[in-house]
Amino acid sequence: MALPTQKRTKSSKRIRTSTFALKKQKLINCSQCKKAVMPHHACLNCGYYNNREVLKIKTIKHKNTKNKKTLKHKK
Ligand SMILES: [Zn+2]
Repeated sequence: MALPTQKRTKSSKRIRTSTFALKKQKLINCSQCKKAVMPHHACLNCGYYNNREVLKIKTIKHKNTKNKKTLKHKK
């Protein structure tokens, strides 16, 4: 079994793991609806990208509130 030739110091270990931290995702506001959107992505709320509509967003309408409750229980 292969063994490390030299001891890894606390410092070298910490320098290596300092790059593991997750960076906060940068978001921009949609030009149409002002919601937070990932840059270079179409807005999933209104379907706009670069001030023009590129996606047609369909909204699901529930006929009554009883159906919503039954759907939740099935999941
Ligand atoms: Zn939008």
